[in-house]
Amino acid sequence: MTVEKIDTLVVGAGQAGIALCEHLGQQGVPFLVLEKSRIAEAWRTSRWDALVTNGPVWHDRFPNLEFKDNAPDEFVGKDRVADYIEEYASMVKAPVRTGVEVLSAVPFEDRAGFRVETSDGIIEAIRIVAATGAFQHPVIPPIVEQGAAVHQMHSAAYRNPNQLADGAVMVVGAGSSGAQIADELNRAGRKVFLSVGPHDRPPRRYRGRDFVWWLGVLGLWDLAAQEPGTEHVTISVSGAYGGHTMDFRRLASEGVTLLGRTETFADGVLKFANDARKNVDAGDANYAQMLDAADAYAASAGLDLPLDPDARKTWPDPDCLTDPQLSLDINEMGITTIIWATGFKQDFSWLKVDAFTETGAPIHQRGVSKEPGLYFLGLPWQSRRGSTFLWGVWHDAKFVADLIAIQRAYADYDGDAAIVPAADE
Ligand SMILES: Cc1cc2nc3c(=O)[nH]c(=O)nc-3n(C[C@H](O)[C@H](O)[C@H](O)COP(=O)(O)OP(=O)(O)OC[C@H]3O[C@@H](n4cnc5c(N)ncnc54)[C@H](O)[C@@H]3O)c2cc1C
Repeated sequence: MTVEKIDTLVVGAGQAGIALCEHLGQQGVPFLVLEKSRIAEAWRTSRWDALVTNGPVWHDRFPNLEFKDNAPDEFVGKDRVADYIEEYASMVKAPVRTGVEVLSAVPFEDRAGFRVETSDGIIEAIRIVAATGAFQHPVIPPIVEQGAAVHQMHSAAYRNPNQLADGAVMVVGAGSSGAQIADELNRAGRKVFLSVGPHDRPPRRYRGRDFVWWLGVLGLWDLAAQEPGTEHVTISVSGAYGGHTMDFRRLASEGVTLLGRTETFADGVLKFANDARKNVDAGDANYAQMLDAADAYAASAGLDLPLDPDARKTWPDPDCLTDPQLSLDINEMGITTIIWATGFKQDFSWLKVDAFTETGAPIHQRGVSKEPGLYFLGLPWQSRRGSTFLWGVWHDAKFVADLIAIQRAYADYDGDAAIVPAADE
């Protein structure tokens, strides 16, 4: 049996894998991409029907291709993003083999490189880039047992309100997914309970500029590391309905019942931490800080942007914050579905290397693993806050491709370079 050999094997053809194709191609690196499903599969099938980008398309894109046929300030749907990534793959002539899963990659003991077992045979690769995504496996905390008399699903399985049984819905998690799903269900006439944890909630637009612009000019997309203690603080934004600020007090005024973090479930009763107020207040403080930082930037840069006093108006305290409910009997409340918008985890179990922490996180520096020849792309905070997003991963892809080219140049050196004599010899 002949074994296929390749210099660099990229695993995964989401936005990370496709961005890397452009840079590896420019560096002249021989490479191949294996994708177990289709290009941009996550955007096609792992998002709810109405999902749109969190940022407008002038921003949420790769630098070298605009979203033709879309207005720059538009928030486009998930399928439009998938089409865009496919278009990009064609543009950069990405060598993607779809429908091929990488099952394992084992480093050779006697030489550089890896023996890679795929669903379509064995491949030997000198280098591997794992571009398999930060949002691979849905995580549901073990709070409500599987046999409980309520339907449970992760936000990754949610599609639209009609998919759910009649009745009220408990949404756990108030990051962008949970907040947007709660908003959608509430607008569809469902009774919605929303369990709110710590979050940041930037203004959608302020003084005529979208928050993606403000975070850009304030250097916040390029922050290199999370502030200690903010690891569990999610960001709550929405591009839905033309884009609006995610304001939990507004949601409450529209009928959503806010609750603290979900802690336990027994005998049909969900219990919550008494922190809804604290979490909403902290989100409001983050919002106000962002306005202050924006004003300070505009003043120091001499920008003549229109003032926006309405942005500082706040919604009144809803009853669910002044007199919080700490437990809910799901039958009494008519809750038939719990949607866990509680995040994702990565899975690198196919990589048979000793280069992960106890919790399975890659040990790396800007995507360069401690295992020689192994690289990662698309990791949260790989080099900066923007690393998991379309516009951010492109820069990390360039960095990784450049490093691979440098390593290839070292490997090509044969040790016979002429020694240049000193000038006075
Ligand atoms: C709900 C939600 C909304 C988001 N909205 C935005 C947004 O508006 N703007 C934005 O910029 N970002 C957004 N993101 C973040 C990010 O852009 C997406 O998650 C994006 O899909 C990540 O791209 P990726 O290429 O890193 O990973 P993925 O898109 O997950 O691609 C990884 C690919 O690897 C393949 N794969 C995995 N394992 C193997 C294997 N063993 N062998 C072969 N192939 C394999 C998978 O099939 C997949 O196609 C959002 C994320 C979520 C969860």
